[in-house]
Amino acid sequence: MTAVHLGFPRVPSNRGPSGTPRPEHPGLVDSFGRVATDLRVSLTDRCNLRCTYCMPAEGLDWMPSDQVLTDDELVRLMRIAVEMLGVTDIRLTGGEPLLRPGLENIVERITALDPRPRVSMTTNGIGLAKRAPGLVSAGLDRINVSLDTIDRERFAELTRRDRLPHVLAGLAAARDAGLSPVKINSVLMRGYNEHEAVPLLRFCLEEGYHLRFIEQMPLDAQHGWNRRDMITAEEILAMLGEAFTLSPFPAPRGGAPAERWLVDGGPGDVGVIASVTRPFCSACERTRLTADGAVRSCLFSNDETDLRSLVRAGARDKEVADAWRDTMWRKLAGHEINEAGFAQPIRPMSAIGG
Ligand code: SAM
Ligand code: SF4
Repeated sequence: MTAVHLGFPRVPSNRGPSGTPRPEHPGLVDSFGRVATDLRVSLTDRCNLRCTYCMPAEGLDWMPSDQVLTDDELVRLMRIAVEMLGVTDIRLTGGEPLLRPGLENIVERITALDPRPRVSMTTNGIGLAKRAPGLVSAGLDRINVSLDTIDRERFAELTRRDRLPHVLAGLAAARDAGLSPVKINSVLMRGYNEHEAVPLLRFCLEEGYHLRFIEQMPLDAQHGWNRRDMITAEEILAMLGEAFTLSPFPAPRGGAPAERWLVDGGPGDVGVIASVTRPFCSACERTRLTADGAVRSCLFSNDETDLRSLVRAGARDKEVADAWRDTMWRKLAGHEINEAGFAQPIRPMSAIGG
């Protein structure tokens, strides 16, 4: 069969969920009036842990490397986001972003953009002990490290790797390198680490880390999420309330996903990201770029636009920017996890970027 090159890939519809065409606006607006300024970029879908709520023990295929954006393609898309689309914040994630070769160079190139975006990273912390100073020199502003237990055996069971000491060393190195605040993301799972809420918060208060619990979401590659096994925000707050006095955080929440509480009158605090039981979609400011160059308006949507093909077909910046704007204009009102008929997205969290 002869392959016929048909020019640029089809640029998808510019109509929102109710059929309204996208108005002229430079930013990433959607038809519900939200404006996305916060870009999550997945640098790789690969990882050196196998957290049970994210990946199966084995058998997950990685993206072929020729499909992953090159550094130049990645930086170009981030430049378009910052210079043309109003993105002010970029979070590097994955998979495990520390596994991306040349990460420090990528950070240096995006912090040199004008206007300079705030650049943060979400990581499992393995290897951070050595790399934190270099990442700070490259311009990294903030870091979130994922840690679901401070018990070494439980950590090995949950992540299927005995690496807790590496994560703890990475956290300390991030703090020593001046990244502030160092935030910790924790997911609690029934039957694994459900009783860790209080020890994790004690540890974070002692070490000066800022703890955020995240409700477990249906985004695992093996589609094993079960509502009954999810520890809800309400349960987490009840457990914390037995050991600490929590009072509402005085500053307004804005578009932040975490609801925050002062612990024992402050200054320490704790946050809960209740994506499932208290969705915050109406205030969402996010747009997402996957490691293979697909732009998505939501973690839970299967509507994505292949910017890599546009870029590799020679599209100009304006065409790429318009395809990105169209995708965001089509963003749905909410994630619909709690609706009958909800279907888990095809891509797992590790391939979208959490
Ligand atoms: N590997 C890095 C890490 O673990 O921090 C970055 C990628 S990971 C997908 C980003 C965040 O998503 C982590 O904090 C992780 O705990 C969280 N996460 C992964 N799967 C999740 C799920 N099913 N529900 C809730 N959070 C999840
Ligand atoms: Fe890897 Fe992060 Fe997923 Fe854990 S949560 S398996 S560290 S990508």
